[in-house]
Amino acid sequence: MPLPPDLHVHTEWSWDAPHGSMERSCERAIEVGLPAIAFTEHADWALVHKGQHSVDLAGYFDSIERCRAKFKGLSILSGVELGEPHWYPAETAELLASGPLDQVLGSIHCIRINGEMVDASQFPERAAADFPGAVREYFRETLAMVESGQTFETLAHIDYPKRYWLDGAKPYREADYEGEIRAVLKAAAATGRVLEVNTTRGRVLSPDITVVRWWRELGGQAVQYGSDAHQPDKVAEGFKVATQMVESAGFKPARDPMALWRR
Ligand SMILES: [Zn+2]
Ligand SMILES: [Zn+2]
Repeated sequence: MPLPPDLHVHTEWSWDAPHGSMERSCERAIEVGLPAIAFTEHADWALVHKGQHSVDLAGYFDSIERCRAKFKGLSILSGVELGEPHWYPAETAELLASGPLDQVLGSIHCIRINGEMVDASQFPERAAADFPGAVREYFRETLAMVESGQTFETLAHIDYPKRYWLDGAKPYREADYEGEIRAVLKAAAATGRVLEVNTTRGRVLSPDITVVRWWRELGGQAVQYGSDAHQPDKVAEGFKVATQMVESAGFKPARDPMALWRR
């Protein structure tokens, strides 16, 4: 079975991808047989405002065009990963108006703890006193984003905090957050969103089969895949195990290799 498109890849145009390369990611995509790749660079407005990050759309689009000219057999999609777009509606609207973006991901990375923005990677340090509480708040923030009316087609890495689990805490089990996760899935299905299965770190699927089954049960129509690669050799990593998981959760491979997997 051919691999599906990798619709979540970062390159040198993302602030946290010093080893990223759009060109070498295209080469890698062709090498592993992907039909398409989307370059979804970070738009993290909280960091832009702090001067820790910028969005250079002109440079990014130049790079996209160079790669499209060079790699004709590969479908190269433009895109963006919006971080907490509902906190920054004006900036988000301006960005989306400035160029045609094929793939728009909505992501929560941060929650507010005592008024401060804290990324889930810092939860073990900053939220150790009530780790499950921070995780619950993460899902509530995700629900707020989905319900905010912000323009994005795809909900990325729905259970992102599990990447950064606190040592010694009760291991992550979807069932412990079932109410919160189901609320997010229900809202995403009702607004016609696509659920991303994120394969960062090879075999850690975000989400895993329990959540994909809930997604189907709650009316979710489609699933897509994203490696969240921040360097070329991670493109499409973990896709074999991810596609098997999604199929056994009741979604079918599309006949058109470019299409989403549907129920
Ligand atoms: Zn992300
Ligand atoms: Zn990402």
